[in-house]
Amino acid sequence: MTTFRPMRRHRQQLADDESLAILSRATSGVLAIIGDGGYPYAVPLSFVYHDNHLYFHSAREGHKIDAVRQDERCSFCVIDRDDVHPAEFTTYFRSVIAFGRIHIVEDDGERMEALRLLGRHYAPCGHELDLQHEIDKGMPRVTLLRMDIEHMTGKQAIELTH
Ligand SMILES: Cc1cc2nc3c(=O)[nH]c(=O)nc-3n(C[C@H](O)[C@H](O)[C@H](O)COP(=O)(O)OP(=O)(O)OC[C@H]3O[C@@H](n4cnc5c(N)ncnc54)[C@H](O)[C@@H]3O)c2cc1C
Repeated sequence: MTTFRPMRRHRQQLADDESLAILSRATSGVLAIIGDGGYPYAVPLSFVYHDNHLYFHSAREGHKIDAVRQDERCSFCVIDRDDVHPAEFTTYFRSVIAFGRIHIVEDDGERMEALRLLGRHYAPCGHELDLQHEIDKGMPRVTLLRMDIEHMTGKQAIELTH
């Protein structure tokens, strides 16, 4: 079992509910997996957070899918804020990093639910019937991935803590 390390600058650490709020509203992040030749493969992806999981959709093949099949360990990073303050030579940032394990979702019921969650996240005003039509079209050719979060931290610039 991995022991995840604590944040050194703990005053800048966000409360868990703030981190979850960031994951819930974000529309993209960067998934880090162990890619070809052991090189870390950091790939930007759309996603949706639900109940301690992150769902992603993907084509059925490619670097990402091969990496996930080889090793389930991963991390995912979302940048919530990056306000550059040139006069201060700094940026007011806020971000979340989650560690966990990722795998391909095989169960058709869960695949359908993941697509529904993704659809509602990206088209919150969309009509349920249109969404179902998209899901029916996409289901046969899409791969759904689920990351189970084991550890999560959020951090903000010291200036935002004041
Ligand atoms: C904001 C955002 C949201 C995205 N959302 C999704 C999503 O929800 N689902 C999805 O499947 N894809 C999404 N993409 C595209 C995604 O980043 C990958 O390009 C795609 O998933 C294919 O990955 P792959 O490993 O199968 O590609 P492959 O073609 O197998 O990768 C081969 C090589 O191509 C290069 N490469 C692949 N992707 C990128 C990239 N994005 N930028 C630069 N080089 C790259 C890398 O060198 C990689 O090793 C999104 C991209 C962005 C920027």
